[in-house]
Amino acid sequence: MLSSATMDTHTAPTSEKSDFIRDIVAADLRDGRVGGVMTRFPPEPNGYLHIGHAKSICLNFGIASEYSGRCNLRFDDTNPVKEEQEYLDAIKADVHWLGFDWGEHLYYASDYFEQLYDWAVYLIGQGKAYVDDLSADEIREHRGTLTEPGVESPWRNRSAEENLDLFARMRTGEFSDGSRVLRAKIDMASGNINFRDPVIYRILHVAHPRTGDAWCIYPSYDFAHGQSDAIEGITHSICTLEFQDHRPLYDWFIDNLPVPSTPHQYEFARLNLTHTVLSKRVLLRLVNDGYVHGWDDPRMPTLSGIRRRGFPAEGIRDFADMIGVARADSVVEVGMLEHAVRDVLNRTASRRFAVLNPLKVVIENFPEGQVEEMDVMNNPEDPSSGTRKVPFSRELWIEREDFMEDAPKKFFRLAPGREVRLRSAYFVTCTEVVKDGSGEIVELRCTYDPATRGGSAPDERRPKGTLHWLSAAHAVPAEIRLYDHLFASPFPGSDGRDLFDDLNPDSESVLSECFVEPALENPVVGVTVQFERLGYFCADPDSASGAPVFNRTLTLKDTWAKVQAQATS
Ligand code: ATP
Ligand code: MG
Repeated sequence: MLSSATMDTHTAPTSEKSDFIRDIVAADLRDGRVGGVMTRFPPEPNGYLHIGHAKSICLNFGIASEYSGRCNLRFDDTNPVKEEQEYLDAIKADVHWLGFDWGEHLYYASDYFEQLYDWAVYLIGQGKAYVDDLSADEIREHRGTLTEPGVESPWRNRSAEENLDLFARMRTGEFSDGSRVLRAKIDMASGNINFRDPVIYRILHVAHPRTGDAWCIYPSYDFAHGQSDAIEGITHSICTLEFQDHRPLYDWFIDNLPVPSTPHQYEFARLNLTHTVLSKRVLLRLVNDGYVHGWDDPRMPTLSGIRRRGFPAEGIRDFADMIGVARADSVVEVGMLEHAVRDVLNRTASRRFAVLNPLKVVIENFPEGQVEEMDVMNNPEDPSSGTRKVPFSRELWIEREDFMEDAPKKFFRLAPGREVRLRSAYFVTCTEVVKDGSGEIVELRCTYDPATRGGSAPDERRPKGTLHWLSAAHAVPAEIRLYDHLFASPFPGSDGRDLFDDLNPDSESVLSECFVEPALENPVVGVTVQFERLGYFCADPDSASGAPVFNRTLTLKDTWAKVQAQATS
């Protein structure tokens, strides 16, 4: 390696991160193959962005910022049949939420329709494109297979004049959908099927979300993508591996058209996650067939879903750094994403008290009508976050699971005759269990030790258990929605199973008789807090219409960290 002393003093910007794409970018800058770095994130506006797209966004925007370059947001909106304004809006909001900004540089492939049309005319003039009258089925039949060459269309050798005339009439709307297409004239015997005279324009009498009725012919994605990059001066056109076989075709267009710049494409492995499906087609079906409540259902792997669930953008960006960028396909444990999210939330989330499954506790020796304000730490991980007051009184709620009548020795919670600490309040001892006619426990009678205010005793005695609690008179009723993996199987649809048979029937459970502390009476929607001992929870937009609603972001249990610790010990 060169020492810095021997390097040019005008060294190109470098990144602290390293992967094969950043290595290429750094080398291109160092060797002067590019003057600056231009990337783009190019979604098709035919669905919402998911966590896989986040990997691509972090990569494209990340590289641009690390190397003092620029990243465009470009909508590859060439298929008006599947595109909607709703998706355009959601995609922009999601990229911003993730923490990236395209500034002025928002583009649309549809902005280039006129230029792309001119280039198609240019190819026809060069004898490199022709209008084909075969039907879609016939074109497919003529295409051949991986082992057999394709068959040339009988319309392949039309004159340029005839092609120009027909293509112009395709544009003016004279022909019906599917009756003709424009194809590049390349090589029907090529080993790469993408070279077998690919369709570059098709007739579609469909209005486009942005161009309206201006067009009734639309470029194929393959014809639009590389040329859009060239128009924007993209230096490093980064995409996923499935486009590897398309690269020679993109290069052919660039070589055969008078484009203003020469983009180079690099492919990386897409993100796959256990218990998760990252296919827009499947996500659309989950929404349309009612398996979930919408694109932003907290169980969805969409950015709007995980945002509603309470995952912070920082956790997603950290996750993208953890997984890195490689060329080999792999499946990442969803636990790793959850680990990255917990790491951020542990540092940043305020602690609050909530009781999901309440059991009444009456402190018999605590004066009736008396209220004490207890000082409780907001976040022990962040002392600067201070304390808050939580009211304590004679009647409390505790978690039903925190009491057991015939408790084994190792049950370090409340049981008859045992003492526990109520966090930041007092030590209490259970003296009596009250049951209803059917034998169900409806109330506990306890006594408290006034000398333990704040949660510690002068004689240093330490109960084994510390419980969270709420003053019954002050507790705020809340709805709490618990979430688990949408797909029960780590590899949905594997071994020939139907993907939808792998859906987890228990992925959502709604608890409607919960309580939260008074500080959460009007929670800020989208802010995630830690309910002590229970997990991370995020206030849902539905809170606006009545009692607060919280989504469980994650439990506190970090299985991935445990597995990692075992692997490295
Ligand atoms: P489809 O093309 O089936 O509609 P798509 O997931 O490819 O779906 P695009 O909108 O084309 O959706 O994706 C935009 C960008 O995000 C592309 O560059 C694509 O390669 C990248 N991308 C999509 N899915 C993933 C993934 N799982 N991991 C990493 N990058 C992805
Ligand atoms: Mg795509």
